[in-house]
Amino acid sequence: MDKVVLGRTGIEVNKNGFGALPIQRISKADAVYLLQKAFYNGINYFDTARAYTDSEEKIGAAFEYTREKIIISTKTAAQDAAGFWKDLETSLKTMKTDYIDIYQFHNPAFCPKPGDESGLYDAMLKAKEEGKIRHIGITNHRIAVAKEAIESGLYETLQFPFSYLAADADLEIVKACKDADMGFIAMKALSGGLIHNSAAAYAYLAQPEFSNVAPIWGVQRESELDEFLSYQDNPPVRDSALNEEIARDRKELSGDFCRGCGYCMPCPAGIEINNCARMSLLLRRAPQAGWLSEEWQEKMKKIEGCLHCNQCMKKCPYGLNTPALLEKNYEDYKTFL
Ligand code: SF4
Ligand code: SF4
Repeated sequence: MDKVVLGRTGIEVNKNGFGALPIQRISKADAVYLLQKAFYNGINYFDTARAYTDSEEKIGAAFEYTREKIIISTKTAAQDAAGFWKDLETSLKTMKTDYIDIYQFHNPAFCPKPGDESGLYDAMLKAKEEGKIRHIGITNHRIAVAKEAIESGLYETLQFPFSYLAADADLEIVKACKDADMGFIAMKALSGGLIHNSAAAYAYLAQPEFSNVAPIWGVQRESELDEFLSYQDNPPVRDSALNEEIARDRKELSGDFCRGCGYCMPCPAGIEINNCARMSLLLRRAPQAGWLSEEWQEKMKKIEGCLHCNQCMKKCPYGLNTPALLEKNYEDYKTFL
């Protein structure tokens, strides 16, 4: 079983981390079963967020009696110190613990620093002094904020999207974290559902050059968990078949495509942008029937009501022309009906 040390935190985690966003969508009993099954099979790192509705509560229910044997990271999207303390106290209470191993700023639009007007970093430091958190981390989708966080020396971990679709700029971020002795936590290693071959995704991240990368896999179904657990004893190897698949995906998914992160939402016209703006890919890379249902036809039709307010474009961390992308996907969608 591969292990990863999260930079200068010194924390060693199983290279299979558990991303606890999807457990919001299943019952508490099913979530507790899944989390405990992961734990009893060697997974010791669980990542959640205050924003993931009841995910923290489910983690609290699963690990109340085994807390000290696992590493938990969670996130706050607070914009000021008051919001920070409220989130932290809620997370501690909800997860039935008195400390959080890694507390992360959740995708802030700027890099919080000591003495800035948000007061966020100062609050982080105080929480660490008080022993409520053990390490300070940041998550981001923006290359510029990620770079600033690394260069600032203020953060012990960075959580950033990383998969075999990574561009050169993403690879530089991974290397910069290694050089700065910062932990690198890889989110979206399946690129928000666009990568279907988990063996290829796993094999890519298992390469020695990514020895500092700790992936967190979003797990909702037992079959998904079983897949990742099976790789611990029988790691997939990058043979020619996997290489071909990676090359094909890279070709198909290169350039300006919607990652499905949802940071551009909500949309005042009620458009479910994070799926509608990548519908062409979803139709070609997943079973089509679901996406062509009446419900989805109605959702796609909402694109006709786009107000062209460009709010989404301003918020997209990948700099996409979201309204144009929606239009293109809608035109393509209609050809399937
Ligand atoms: S430009 Fe259109 S899709 Fe984007 S936020 Fe405005 S209404 Fe929604
Ligand atoms: S348009 Fe941009 S912000 Fe919106 S879901 Fe897609 S990648 Fe994310």
